[in-house]
Amino acid sequence: MTSSEVTMEKLVSLCKRRSFIFQSSEIYGGLASAWDYGPLGVELKNNIKDFWWREMTQLHENIVGLDASILMHSKVWEASGHVENFTDPLVDCKQCKSRFRADQIDLEAACPVCGTRDSFTEPRQFNLMFKTHIGPVEEGGDVVYLRPETAQGIFANFKNVVQTSRVKIPFGIAQVGKAFRNEITTKNFIFRTVEFEQMEMQFFVKPGDEDEWFDYWKKNRMTYYEKLGIRKEKLRFHRHEDDELAHYAKDAFDIEFEFPMGWQELEGIHSRTDFDLSRHQEFSGKDLTYIDDQTRERFIPYVVETSAGLTRSVLMVLADAYEEETIGEGDVRTVLHFHPVVAPVTVAVLPLVKKDGLAEIAKEVELALRQDFATYYDKGGAIGRRYRRQDEIGTPYCVTIDYDTKEDKTVTLRFRDSMEQVRVPIAGLTERIRQEMKNYKRIG
Ligand code: ATP
Repeated sequence: MTSSEVTMEKLVSLCKRRSFIFQSSEIYGGLASAWDYGPLGVELKNNIKDFWWREMTQLHENIVGLDASILMHSKVWEASGHVENFTDPLVDCKQCKSRFRADQIDLEAACPVCGTRDSFTEPRQFNLMFKTHIGPVEEGGDVVYLRPETAQGIFANFKNVVQTSRVKIPFGIAQVGKAFRNEITTKNFIFRTVEFEQMEMQFFVKPGDEDEWFDYWKKNRMTYYEKLGIRKEKLRFHRHEDDELAHYAKDAFDIEFEFPMGWQELEGIHSRTDFDLSRHQEFSGKDLTYIDDQTRERFIPYVVETSAGLTRSVLMVLADAYEEETIGEGDVRTVLHFHPVVAPVTVAVLPLVKKDGLAEIAKEVELALRQDFATYYDKGGAIGRRYRRQDEIGTPYCVTIDYDTKEDKTVTLRFRDSMEQVRVPIAGLTERIRQEMKNYKRIG
């Protein structure tokens, strides 16, 4: 068997064809850098989010959740440094008016859009936050920003959480939500968008303990991606050099994934010191120190942050799963090797034919499986074609009802990756699928 490389064009096309992701406002010609998640895309995204949430909160007794609002007091962004520092250097082509990030373009070269030489303006700093107003009139209304990261909602609630839930340092606060950045970008699908979702966790530790926890989270987050089913060889660390470090950071690693366009950041793990809490203490005038129960020591905690992109994770999961597999002379199947924990559909139930009562039995089996799994019932067309359709949306298991089912109450269980089939009694089907999910190992 052979397979060919995944390209962004192939992913975009599959995502549209099979109901994963659509261009935003497509009927109006589309809105650049904004995307909508269709019936299968929303399931995939929710499954990744749920997996992250479970890994971070349920499996860590010292991490609690939060869901802060997108709009916050504008002082939050002054304190965090975003009003002053959250900028990209931009240049415009004087000829065709195209806009580029100065750090992503060769300023000596010709404009990549119109080919004119010496046409770039001097770089200008451009703030990435979207600004708007609360209140009926723009003038005099309060300026608010669409949050460019979820982290500040966590810092702003640090005191609330410490005072009202029984957390003790070291502990974390986790949050998933939308963030907005006025990015200059027009390609690479959902990799970099103006509206996206982040999954962030701030871990508060005693000053001096941050290096130990930084190592812990670095390892933990890499293991998480392997548990999510991502191939090891597609993941790597990238350590930030001193000149790459953000103004607040003591140390930072990215976890990178080999996307179709090359190695790119997926998640940042940052040692943020006490920068954020100190600044919020200063700007709000509220005491944000923590008192150690035992020693009565008072201090501002240090923070280790794990900051992952949810929508970017969707792209990673799709790119990692995609395969065009040649399985015979001139026969190629497109298959998404999703880990069962993220697959939008876990089990498809297919009657071999519609007649002779097989469709009714299949529907009954599907209704029973629904209690435990995301199912899909498909009765139309040749069975081979129906299998391929499920392969293409990454359904790990198909259950087929045939004439033998009527005799002995068994069904065929077909595996997506190996295409192998086994006979299983209906009575043990739920348990068997559960076991298969637990022991899943990708083939192909
Ligand atoms: P970059 O340097 O690529 O702009 P960043 O280093 O500013 O990214 P962070 O602020 O550390 O990114 O954000 C954490 C994570 O949020 C990133 O690793 C990425 O997965 C995700 N993310 C950030 N910006 C975007 C965006 N515009 N679109 C989609 N995901 C994003």
